[in-house]
Amino acid sequence: MSAKQDFYETLGVPKTATAEEIKKAYRKLAIKYHPDKNAGNKEAEEKFKDLSHAYEILSDSQKRSQYDQLGHDAFTSRGSSGPGAGYGGFEYHDPYDIFSQFFGGGGGGGGGGSSIFEELFTGGGRRSSNGERDGADLRFDIEIDFEEAVYGADKKIKIPRLETCDACNGSGCETGTGKSTCSKCRGTGNISMSQGFFSIRQTCPNCHGTGQIIQNPCRKCGSEGRMRVEKILKIHIPPGVDTGSRLRVSGEGEGGVRGGQSGDLYVVVHVRAHEIFQRDGLDIICELPIDFVTASLGGLVEVPTITGKTKLKVPEGTQNGTVMRIKGKGMPSLRGGQRGDQHIKVFVEVPTNLTREQKELLAKFKTIQEGSKNHPLMDTFIDKAKRFFTGGDEG
Ligand SMILES: [Zn+2]
Ligand SMILES: [Zn+2]
Repeated sequence: MSAKQDFYETLGVPKTATAEEIKKAYRKLAIKYHPDKNAGNKEAEEKFKDLSHAYEILSDSQKRSQYDQLGHDAFTSRGSSGPGAGYGGFEYHDPYDIFSQFFGGGGGGGGGGSSIFEELFTGGGRRSSNGERDGADLRFDIEIDFEEAVYGADKKIKIPRLETCDACNGSGCETGTGKSTCSKCRGTGNISMSQGFFSIRQTCPNCHGTGQIIQNPCRKCGSEGRMRVEKILKIHIPPGVDTGSRLRVSGEGEGGVRGGQSGDLYVVVHVRAHEIFQRDGLDIICELPIDFVTASLGGLVEVPTITGKTKLKVPEGTQNGTVMRIKGKGMPSLRGGQRGDQHIKVFVEVPTNLTREQKELLAKFKTIQEGSKNHPLMDTFIDKAKRFFTGGDEG
């Protein structure tokens, strides 16, 4: 039909139509037959293409006069037909390009900017024509203990969610009954309302855009196809999780509607702070207070690890802040492989509330250790301080 159409007839204008009249006619009809507004309607799509071809020729004064003189022969040499076919030396532009150029280029008059058309055509969001919709993904935040992050845990969680109704399988229809095509929109889910040049598409209020009417609503869910429930789920927290770890539980999000797929559930982990352990990647840090005598003389101290107590040898003369490592006592890796280590940071604690006897012993210690080079840091510091004062104090 493309090859045989009369361009004036297609646009519904007389052969004497002015350029402005041709423009107006195209505007009105192109909106009416745009495939976005006529989903699945082949006839409308053909019509939309024919309109585009007609407009392309008649809006160009040179092509229009060729057409007036020779008719289609001006553009047809091989009689090919069909959408997008070449006509001898002439090839029509893409109807969608013509359309968007027309409106995007500030069509004037009717006030058609492309943004207005985007609004018209995208209206109520995309959903399939039978009302099928996928369920949303859900997020659940869970707090676990440090030990649970180390060993993993099985948790029961309660999530409020919309579930596909088991009585009607999400169809919303009472068992044994079906749906009928909506009479108001004839099953398209949309109705058009004219406003001047524009016809505005709206979601059909009768069927809410599904194009179908439920004859007997499901008694359990009341035609919604979904119900709000509190679902109790058992989830496994793998060893090695950290704050911010996200566990995806496939298909445990909200249920879909009318055959749509369920969403996924994302469990976001938060690990409670531990009293003595801190995590640094796969390593565990523990600050260990020791007395200054053990630090001085060395000795065995008891150290907590995530797998139980262990003895650690503190070498003679261990300084405050020294870090010691216990291999393989860190966190397990989520991806498998080697565990981290435990790092023990020594904190030498100065004793308080000394008894008279303790004080006397320490005083005695002070007198006998004088000049014995027990404190190299103190000695070098004193030297540096001396140089500072003699250098700065002239005369
Ligand atoms: Zn139901
Ligand atoms: Zn309807």
